[in-house]
Amino acid sequence: MFESLSDRLTGALKDLRGKGRLSPADIDATCREIRLALLDADVALPVVRSFIAKIKERAKGHEVSGALNPAQQVVKIVNEELVGILGGETRRLTFAKTPPTVVMLAGLQGSGKTTLAGKLAKWLKDQGHTPLLVACDLQRPGAVSQLQIVGERAGAAVFAPHPGTSIGGGDNALGITAADPVEVAKAGIAEARNKQYDVVIVDTAGRLGIDAELMNQAIGIRDAVQPDETLFVLDAMIGQDAVSTAEAFRDGVGFTGVVLTKLDGDARGGAALSVREVTGQPIMFASTGEKLEDFDVFHPDRMASRILG
Ligand code: GDP
Repeated sequence: MFESLSDRLTGALKDLRGKGRLSPADIDATCREIRLALLDADVALPVVRSFIAKIKERAKGHEVSGALNPAQQVVKIVNEELVGILGGETRRLTFAKTPPTVVMLAGLQGSGKTTLAGKLAKWLKDQGHTPLLVACDLQRPGAVSQLQIVGERAGAAVFAPHPGTSIGGGDNALGITAADPVEVAKAGIAEARNKQYDVVIVDTAGRLGIDAELMNQAIGIRDAVQPDETLFVLDAMIGQDAVSTAEAFRDGVGFTGVVLTKLDGDARGGAALSVREVTGQPIMFASTGEKLEDFDVFHPDRMASRILG
């Protein structure tokens, strides 16, 4: 996704090589190129501005290190500031002191929530956890069965209402209607407690755009399940809308972390890279394909190195 940005940034920094001393004009010229590269990649303007200001300040502020020539010094500064934009430290999932840990997924329809639920379940299982997927996307036709399919692939249990029936069935009949996602969420948590699943992943409904009904439903589910983590799932392909969508979810349901999906796509992706800086919440995971294994913890330092080539 970041090939073009990567080429432009490495190109801008390459021009500094071989210079024994860097004049303020050299630094300004490099910063101008970096600025254009970031803007062309859709990185949000305020993020670009503060990034460039920091680079200039540090590069002109005589940061010296015996081992590095001036050009290497600037590369190091750009790298460190890029890591900073992406969140600095890798942020790990927080587990509840008393299980189950509740992880709620929120985001627009098509952002990759249901796929992510399966990926997260597999990732957790690989670490010895016993996740339960709870199907609270009762809006999109096929979402429940899609979750059942990804759950099966991941080898994880799925708690889902059957259309037109009450949840639980048999001895466990909980007597709740299948149409209310808040009730399904609560019943899912109860199921996890009863059957000792240690992590509950709650899939929620999305819309094609932000609307009040979507947000209120997500808030209702959040209040009912009191998640330890709310992950905002963001399709990196949506370009500049990424920032406003993230802000709407932050101000609506709120979230504790971001999952970037579709990083395998060929969009410019810079808007998604701005999301940490704009919302103040860390990017925790990255999804790079449709398969369950196309998924990993997001490491700001590795992503910065990848972008800087
Ligand atoms: P939801 O509506 O948020 O639950 O989104 P889905 O999980 O149904 O995903 C929407 C589409 O995006 C599906 O076709 C997924 O296979 C696809 N998808 C999800 N994550 C990724 C990803 O990281 N890369 C690519 N290329 N496709 C993805």
